[in-house]
Amino acid sequence: MASLPARLKIQCIVLVTLWIGSSSIADTSTSSDLGELLVKSSNQQREFDFFMLSFLWPGTACLSSDGECCPSNACCRRSSALTEFTIHGLWPDYNDGTWPACCPGKRFNIKKISTLLSTMKKYWPSYNCESSSNCHNGTGLFWEHEWEKHGPCSFPVIRDEYDYFRTVLNLYFKYNVTEVLREAGYVASNCEKYPLGGIVSAIEKAYHATPALACSGDAVEELRLCFSKDFKFRDCGVEIPPESSCPEYVSLPKFISSGLGIKEAKALKLET
Ligand code: 5GP
Repeated sequence: MASLPARLKIQCIVLVTLWIGSSSIADTSTSSDLGELLVKSSNQQREFDFFMLSFLWPGTACLSSDGECCPSNACCRRSSALTEFTIHGLWPDYNDGTWPACCPGKRFNIKKISTLLSTMKKYWPSYNCESSSNCHNGTGLFWEHEWEKHGPCSFPVIRDEYDYFRTVLNLYFKYNVTEVLREAGYVASNCEKYPLGGIVSAIEKAYHATPALACSGDAVEELRLCFSKDFKFRDCGVEIPPESSCPEYVSLPKFISSGLGIKEAKALKLET
């Protein structure tokens, strides 16, 4: 059965900044994702220029989810509705719009972050049941994907797996983008459309730096903040692919648990 979220899926990510496109670095190869440079050995690893911290909007992430339920899929949470941006990842990027990926480093080991897990389950959830790809031709947890793809490329600023997850959680709690938007009047709604420029301005006013936004149709899917290597705010500047750009007016869909029946979900979708 096609779920409501699946039917509403509109593959069109939009964004605020200009996509520069892919470029190549000697001795690296690009993956299928334009801009991604797979780094195969440590002597190919050129140090990154800045960090991009990416947050996901649950209401949109669940519209794009396959609607399947399992314990790891946050879209199926019934007890606590997801009302805030959650964490996608911290990404080391180059100023030219490309980024290194899968740099050599230690493989993900969940035991290294056991003290962070309860917080991560809440604020860094996965939005589907499928495993994510890791950097070793296999699959694993969403956290494994983020650490292996981006963590070792963040060296020497980020030293190890624990440092990666701890740093991201600290940044997430320090910069509450949901609260910044709420204070400016941008709250979850299934009928309101908000000017993209207003959302960008609210973030700029709070942090004195321009974020990047990615949409799925007109729904905000990701909000990204950028930092220098010493974690001072900077403009994101470089871009996301054209299919990810946001229109002039965007929405912040409410979170609807996939654990709900279709009738219930439809009723909520119509709610003002
Ligand atoms: P992932 O979940 O694989 O980390 O990222 C999902 C999507 O976000 C990618 O397909 C790509 O479009 C974008 N993305 C991933 N990593 C980076 C990055 O380091 N920099 C930028 N600008 N975009 C990224």
